[in-house]
Amino acid sequence: MTPETSRTHAERGSAPSMQPPLTPNAEIQERNCSVGRTIDVIGDGWSFMILRECYFGVRRFEQFKEILGLPRTTLADRLRTLTAKGLLRQVLYSERPPRFEYQLTRLGIDLYPVMMALMSFGDKWLAGRRRKPLQLIHHNCGQPCSAIVICSKCRAEILPSNVSYRDGPGAGTSVIHTKRKSRRSADPTALEHRRPSSVARALQVIGDRWSFMIIREAFFRVRRFDHLQNNLGIAPNILIDRLNRLVDNGVFRKVLYQSGPNRYEYRFTDKGRDLFGSMIAMLRWGDKWLSDGAPPLILTHNDCGKDFEPTVACDQCREALNAHSMRFTMNYRDPKPSE
Ligand SMILES: [Zn+2]
Ligand SMILES: [Zn+2]
Repeated sequence: MTPETSRTHAERGSAPSMQPPLTPNAEIQERNCSVGRTIDVIGDGWSFMILRECYFGVRRFEQFKEILGLPRTTLADRLRTLTAKGLLRQVLYSERPPRFEYQLTRLGIDLYPVMMALMSFGDKWLAGRRRKPLQLIHHNCGQPCSAIVICSKCRAEILPSNVSYRDGPGAGTSVIHTKRKSRRSADPTALEHRRPSSVARALQVIGDRWSFMIIREAFFRVRRFDHLQNNLGIAPNILIDRLNRLVDNGVFRKVLYQSGPNRYEYRFTDKGRDLFGSMIAMLRWGDKWLSDGAPPLILTHNDCGKDFEPTVACDQCREALNAHSMRFTMNYRDPKPSE
């Protein structure tokens, strides 16, 4: 099935979760979506980078500060948020004076495959002539490997053109409660300040929450400015800014679909389309931890005809990856301070 013939959520306007156009007095409603929920829980690029360090075994405030090189107040804020959202927990490690370290919870540990999918994208598209920063080795098969996203039923790699969607039991819309963070981080390269990181590079290309949401819509084949604006309830100036940025970063290309006045739609480049694995890995995580057993969206793998869970797996043996089954070699000097 090609993208042109498969069912779309927005362009045919028949899907139940299609948003009505916003009126000035309307409450902002947003489509229930596990990707959006996941991004709301994780927060921003710094939170991703803190979690990444946790997978390296970093636990303590001063270590995070040393490795990430971010201001104390920013670090304290992100650690507090990640703890409040249930991804980290504080554990006392010294009685006098009382000192705490941060440990991953089950939610946090289960986010590891998402990180691997982002890393794979960064390795593939953003390393340039540099070597990829980390070489993963899968403990179970002993092979150097990369992460791919496979179908939980037939184990084949998932391509965006081979997935169709239908509303799940949690479909619908919800009023947006939290104030949207529309601010972009001042210096995206700061994420890579101390350690070269493909995850950081991937986040620089994707950008902020709004960019994630635009990319998500694009995977539902929502490609036009007005449709994006209606579906997301986003301010036009922010939408223009994010679309331009995603074009500059090579995620989208602009394609003329109407002239006089000229109108463009935003289509994925090969690079942009390759973000699909990361997106559906987030979707699975949000379904598992944030949806009370009622996923908003059901994914069907057209190749095998079955509903599936996106599974981040080893490209060598196709077993699911988790934080305990990976080793890695570094292609750079580790800046981790000794304790
Ligand atoms: Zn399948
Ligand atoms: Zn393997």
